[in-house]
Amino acid sequence: MGSIDETAVGSLREALRGPVITPQDPGYDEARSIYNAMIDRRPAAFAQCVDVADVQAAISFARDTGADLAVRGGGHSGPGLCLVDDGLVLDLSPMRWVRVAPEATTVQVGGGSQLGDLDHATHAFGRAVPAGIMSTTGVGGLTLGGGHGYLTRKYGLTIDSLVSADVVLADGSCVTASADDHPDLFWALRGGGGNFGVVTSFTFRLHPAHTVGVAVTVWPVDRTPEVLRWYREFMPSAPEDLYGFFAVLAVPPGPPFPEPIHGHKVCGVVWCYTGDLAADRLEEVLAVVNDPAPPAFHFTTPMPYPGLQSMFDTLIPKGLQWYWRGDFFDAVSDGAIDVHHKYAENLPTDLSIMHLYPVDGAAHRLGADETAWAYRDAVWSCVVAGIDPDPANAGLIREWCVGYWTDLHPHSMGGSYVNFIGQQESSDRVQATYRGNYDRLAAVKRVYDPDNLFHANQNIPPAPS
Ligand code: FAD
Repeated sequence: MGSIDETAVGSLREALRGPVITPQDPGYDEARSIYNAMIDRRPAAFAQCVDVADVQAAISFARDTGADLAVRGGGHSGPGLCLVDDGLVLDLSPMRWVRVAPEATTVQVGGGSQLGDLDHATHAFGRAVPAGIMSTTGVGGLTLGGGHGYLTRKYGLTIDSLVSADVVLADGSCVTASADDHPDLFWALRGGGGNFGVVTSFTFRLHPAHTVGVAVTVWPVDRTPEVLRWYREFMPSAPEDLYGFFAVLAVPPGPPFPEPIHGHKVCGVVWCYTGDLAADRLEEVLAVVNDPAPPAFHFTTPMPYPGLQSMFDTLIPKGLQWYWRGDFFDAVSDGAIDVHHKYAENLPTDLSIMHLYPVDGAAHRLGADETAWAYRDAVWSCVVAGIDPDPANAGLIREWCVGYWTDLHPHSMGGSYVNFIGQQESSDRVQATYRGNYDRLAAVKRVYDPDNLFHANQNIPPAPS
């Protein structure tokens, strides 16, 4: 794949309604800055698309010039898949819009929207789409990978609410994929990542959600084994109204945490309750947090759902160094507990974390081959993330993350949520993500992108014809 010459950039500028940004333009460094500051790539140009016609023009340009192409949604990819050195970035970030159908059964979302855009618009109708836990994550990358978060036990993965998607294909044509139209493409989009085309809009089914019960419980880090032994039994047997992700972390230095425990290494659970919020009901449901060991801190409050979704936005803003890896788990073995305890005690920096996100409940109601998401039998999606503001600590967080993941991996199901595959991981990891669905994905890829134009992703090369 070649880079892009100046004359060609001129023709791209003429073809697009949105701006084209090159290294000579003042907005260049802003355009190439993404959530993970460890990624430092220098694309030749950004095509900042404002509509479907711009997306078609940018795709035609990449095809005709042979320029390396990346697609940017919310820019949250850990390994920076939305940027490519010397190539063209098809930047969807101007396409941030949301339209809730007036009867509030479905919502349509622009391909560059962030979760906060979606939550803001649907909350006004007392509705939500199950998605991730940070308001700045892109709807695009998250949905195409599968998408899990606080409402997953109750309403399933994000893809389980996807009704249809408008997609610009590698040949520049535009189609709507749904259960009835291009069903193979629709199947592949639900977990297969950005391999099949550029999604310019998603239509989701809406679910009731307005004010939710939120709780945070932390225990001293030396109680990690008892807490995990309790959590692994309690969480999968709890009603689907209750969701709690387990974490190892250092206590953030601010409210609601009391000052004496700021910075302490702990294990904890962040809870979201969508059941009855009548007086003290959440306290009753969570009385069990005293069972494994006395918490160092336990806090509950009702909260508008978008408030929960943006609770971590200021704690982990854009621009930090991130190094992450993940795996699926159907159980938390005693051996895994020893690994969690060891690495929790040796947290390298105050922002580094390990999270175990439940992916059971409603997410288990579909079979492994009904969408591209092949781990319907997984109970948790785990991510280990070394995080720090200081680039000088990049080696430290990488070493901790890789050591933790390497020791934990033998206790896992073998594959990872595709969106938690990190930097410097091999293509074997993509195959492990899709298990028995991989060959069908490669066959769909051959139909919709036979030349692998869309390869800056967790790539599934087209099956040989
Ligand atoms: P980008 O970097 O813009 O894109 C990622 C990939 O998706 C690229 O390959 C890109 O080409 C492709 N892509 C994006 N949009 C489109 C589109 N419209 N059409 C075609 N291809 C597209 N995941 C969860 O499921 N749940 C969570 O709770 C969660 N929390 C997270 C919190 C943080 C702080 C971070 C950094 C990530 C989190 N993730 C979570 C992972 C997240 O789903 C992935 O990082 C995802 O790739 C982000 O999508 P994006 O659009 O922001 O990323």
